[in-house]
Order: sequence, then C-alpha cells, then structure tokens
Amino acid sequence: METIFDGMNFLFQVHARMAWLLIVSSVIVLWVASLFKIIHGSYSLPKGTFFNNLKNGGSVNKRNVLFVVAHPDDESMFFTPTINYLTLRGHNVHILCLSIGDADGKGITRKEELYQASAILKVICNVVVEAFILARYNVVPHQQVSVLDHPNLQDGFGKVWNDSILANIIEEEITRNNIDSIITFDNYGVSGHCNHRDVHYGVRKLLQASSQRKIEAWELVSTNIFRKYSGPVDIWLSSLNPMQSSHEVVHCLLNEQPRKSFLAMAQHSSQWVWFRKLFVAFSSYTYVNTLKKM
Ligand SMILES: [Zn+2]
Repeated sequence: METIFDGMNFLFQVHARMAWLLIVSSVIVLWVASLFKIIHGSYSLPKGTFFNNLKNGGSVNKRNVLFVVAHPDDESMFFTPTINYLTLRGHNVHILCLSIGDADGKGITRKEELYQASAILKVICNVVVEAFILARYNVVPHQQVSVLDHPNLQDGFGKVWNDSILANIIEEEITRNNIDSIITFDNYGVSGHCNHRDVHYGVRKLLQASSQRKIEAWELVSTNIFRKYSGPVDIWLSSLNPMQSSHEVVHCLLNEQPRKSFLAMAQHSSQWVWFRKLFVAFSSYTYVNTLKKM
C-alpha cells in the first residue's frame, strides 16, 4: 500500500514539475516571439497611420510635437516608443519638463541628464555643444527641450500642481515653438504619481480654452499592473486596443528601437539604479505606447 502511495506521489511531483516547465518555456517563447516581432518591425519601418497625413505634393506633413512631462526621465521611461516613431519619420519633437525632479535634491544634475537623454533620443543634436552652452552661460541650451524650476511646480508626492498655472506655461511653449500637437500622460499617469496626473489636467485645462482648440492632443494610456510588467508581450494586447475602440481614436506604436529606451534611461545616471534597470527591461512602456486622442 505504501509503495502505491509513494508511486502516486512521485507521479504527481513529476507532473507538477512538467507543468511548471511548460509554463516557464511558454513565457520564454512568447517573450522571444514578441521581441522578434518588434525587431523585425524595426527593419521594415512600417509606415504607420499615426501623424502620417500627406500634403498636396504627396510628402508627409511634418508636425511640431510637444511632449509634456513632469520629471526628467519620464520621456525615456514611458514615451520612448512614441519619440522614436516621430523622430524616425522626421517630425520635430520638443519636450517640456515641468520640474527638475528635485524631490531628492538632485534637480540640477537631473536637468543635465535630460539634455543627454534627449540627444540619445535625437530630440536635440549635439550634446557636447549643448552641455558647453549650459555650463558656460547657464541658459537652456536648446529650445527643443525646456526644463522648468517653478516654485509652485516642485517634484514630490502630495505637491499639488495648479492646472491653470500649467495651462498658461504650456500655452507659452506652444506659441514659442509653433507647436501643433501635444503628447502627455492620461489621468492615471502610468504610475499614479500625482505630478503626472496634474500634468494631464493642465493639458485638459488648456484644451478647454477656446484659443487652443486647434491643438491636437494625445494621452499615453495607462495599463493595469499585469500588462505594465509584461514587457514586449503586451504588444499583442495593445494592438487589439485600436480595433476595439469604435468611438475613440487610438493608436498603438511599437518601439522600433527598444535599445534606445535603455540607452536614454542610462543617461539619467542619478536614477539608473538596479530596480529601474529591471523596470525598463520588464515594463511594457519600453516596447509599446498606446495613445488615445484627448
Ligand atoms: Zn515622473
């Protein structure tokens, strides 16, 4: 009797191990297949319909696109798929970062790190020249990247950012750089950080103002925690989004150069600690962005 019981126990353990092996190998196959799809896509550079309106002559209408973010590193950690998509197609990309990210007293360093990341993301051209101007003259080196250090817009949980102040600042930036499109956080702000969410409400406030009705604005759709940490696998679920949304305009953009997310994020040396390295590897925002029209 004991021998039969031992035998059944052994069989159960073998089955359990095989089930685990099957699950782990399926996850690995899915990761590899998803990465392959992303990298294969980058070779063929699919045309995409997002910001692909043609002018009368048949060439693509180049946009002046402003990314409105809360902290230095938001652009690299969350928006790289969209930034790559736009720069590879020759659109002019601008970044407005509404704080220097001084919650830990590293704001001055983080501001310079944003310029370096912007050079990797091809938002600005020559980081050596830009850094020289910044160090020598202490002025914003390039109009395509603006970083604010406003007394009422300081980095941190529990710091409420007024939407009217935000709307005025964004409006000034739009006028200064002849911006026609905005990309920003949605009302959850990927991580739920209050500064990200306030930025969204600032853009909303601006859109409600009659003078800015002609501005086209898009929000980065926040996903649930399982999709957020599913890495490249999320591309399959994200690509279903535009098909499901009949009443909303939604675009799913794959990161044609996922390596750039790592390279750009690595420029933020003061933030490049082990858990953020893991985040960038496992975050779906490294591989895909879903944008919804606001
Ligand atoms: Zn942030």
